[in-house]
Amino acid sequence: MKPPAYDREAMAYIVDPWAQVLRGVVAAYVLPLPGGLAAVIDPGPATGAGRLVEALNALGLKLHAVLVTHVHLDHAGATGALLEKYPEAVAYVHPRGLPHLADPSRLWESSKQVMGDAAEAYGRPVPAPRERLIATEDGQEVELPGGRVLRILHTPGHASHHQSFYEDSTGVLYTGDSAGIIMETTVGVVRAPTTPPRLKPRLYLESLEKMMKLQPRAVAPTHFGIWPNGPQELERQREIFVRWMNLLAEIHSEGVRTPGEAAKRLALRDPEASLIMRAGGPVRDFFLYETVWGMLDAIERGEWP
Ligand SMILES: [Zn+2]
Repeated sequence: MKPPAYDREAMAYIVDPWAQVLRGVVAAYVLPLPGGLAAVIDPGPATGAGRLVEALNALGLKLHAVLVTHVHLDHAGATGALLEKYPEAVAYVHPRGLPHLADPSRLWESSKQVMGDAAEAYGRPVPAPRERLIATEDGQEVELPGGRVLRILHTPGHASHHQSFYEDSTGVLYTGDSAGIIMETTVGVVRAPTTPPRLKPRLYLESLEKMMKLQPRAVAPTHFGIWPNGPQELERQREIFVRWMNLLAEIHSEGVRTPGEAAKRLALRDPEASLIMRAGGPVRDFFLYETVWGMLDAIERGEWP
């Protein structure tokens, strides 16, 4: 396995724990700390836990803390396995997400229902010991050994228990799924909101605006990588989100109810959606279809406009 990429300004390694399934889709951010320790933001799926441990070993680092943006399988599935492997490590999680890390059985069942086979590709998470799970508060600052500080921002919308992490000293905002995806694909860089079903569109927008106030130097969505021009990226995400919601409300009023058909029509009217359609494959299936599905569902529930 080749060593993970290091972003000098962010002082973070970008590990790709799921590369054996899909390369460049799920990023785990490893922050090296003095004393050979590391903090990991979003360790990724359960099936990637082994790769993440390998990466930490290759870097000569021992896990000190996991910070999870939310408990979805692609972001936090590996948490239990990592806490098992590193008995001194703890995990920081939103209080509403905490019970699902301690007992992932309900999360696993509902993920299988929603995602089908994709859930198996992420793998079934093992339970994390409750006494090593730390419930966060909005605005709380987590001081890591050596003085690196991550500020926690509760950023609901994608999920009610979503949080993001801001490191003032490097100017990086780790956004999880609260500020969409920015991903390198075969057709270029694609951007899209990440809004699976049970999306709360108003909260999603409020969270984006809350993050925009920070004027971060860079944003690091889990899907995928660390991108400069943080304020512009967040503004672009806000624009795409509002545009897609409005276009899908139109498409919904034309009687379209299935995500596949709605995505097709959206791609005819919107350049970002059209690009993802062209990227095809899992990028289209995971991100465009799921996002359109969540947006349609929110429109159906009368939550937009
Ligand atoms: Zn995700």
